[in-house]
Amino acid sequence: MASTELDVQNERKSARRGEVLLKVDNLCKHFPIRRGVLSRVVGWVRAVDGVSFEIYRGETLGLVGESGCGKTTLARAILRLTDISSGTVTFDGTNVFEQNAGDMRKLRKRMQIVFQDPYGSLNPRLTVGSMIAEAIKIHKLAAGDAVRERVAELLDRVGIPAEYMSRYPHEFSGGQRQRIGIARALAVNPELIIADEPVSALDVSIQAQIINLLKDLQEALDLTYLFIAHDLGVVEYISDRVAVMYLGRIVEVAPATRLYRDPKHPYTQALLSAMPTLEPGVRRKRILLSGDVPSPANVPPGCAFHTRCPHAMAICREKTPPQREVEAGHRTACWLYEK
Ligand code: SF4
Repeated sequence: MASTELDVQNERKSARRGEVLLKVDNLCKHFPIRRGVLSRVVGWVRAVDGVSFEIYRGETLGLVGESGCGKTTLARAILRLTDISSGTVTFDGTNVFEQNAGDMRKLRKRMQIVFQDPYGSLNPRLTVGSMIAEAIKIHKLAAGDAVRERVAELLDRVGIPAEYMSRYPHEFSGGQRQRIGIARALAVNPELIIADEPVSALDVSIQAQIINLLKDLQEALDLTYLFIAHDLGVVEYISDRVAVMYLGRIVEVAPATRLYRDPKHPYTQALLSAMPTLEPGVRRKRILLSGDVPSPANVPPGCAFHTRCPHAMAICREKTPPQREVEAGHRTACWLYEK
């Protein structure tokens, strides 16, 4: 490509950076609990319970929280892989839940997911080449010899030798399989990638390689990420901003450096206190939380964290705290910050 053409493309890219690409507004996903021969609804699992956030084009939003807090349900809801109970998901100005099947197919091409378990998400009976080619052909992005060339290019981009395209998933290591999962997601030229615990199943040394690969790809392809993990350490390295989730709700969201330096919500403070710090002379005081995370089928009233919070007050047991901006771009939902 001529350098002027490249310059124009780069200018366009940077002009669009900072736009909201994905907006999630008051999203709820409640699953009914049914009992008896008549399958009567006797309760609800509030997996996602009033979640709002936005992701800007070109950024990485890290989403952290313990297992079972609703992160994966939220990811599936954004991609419309599950129905929602209420709320909206808007991708580049388009309401995802108002699209017909044809428009949704086009939209899905722009939003891809990378799963935690690369082996489980790759078809064991297909060679990695045919698997990636399938996505290219379904979306009519290339035909004939160009498909094979594109597969080779994608594998090369993620650090897998192109001559391995005729191998099967079981012939690769865990890290290589995750690279293949990423290549498959990239095959349709997405703008947003939801990475759902993409490194949790990998050894620490391999985790760093995959995260560096994701960072390089973001830079080269102008990608936007929602990076989901339960490990705050992993999220810190890759994220521009971080959202912390507890029992189906976002309790704090802030630029990554600010959140790690000065967490406001008692739950974030407890999570961070368990994380080793590399700063010389800095030792965090460990905050031990009492009890287990309550079931999402039985979310405590008021602030859902009040049963474990060392600062809980009377109001916390009765009223849900609203999200408030405590500093520019730093929001938290906690009565401690209500004036
Ligand atoms: Fe703790 Fe109350 Fe804040 Fe909830 S609202 S985190 S219970 S102080």
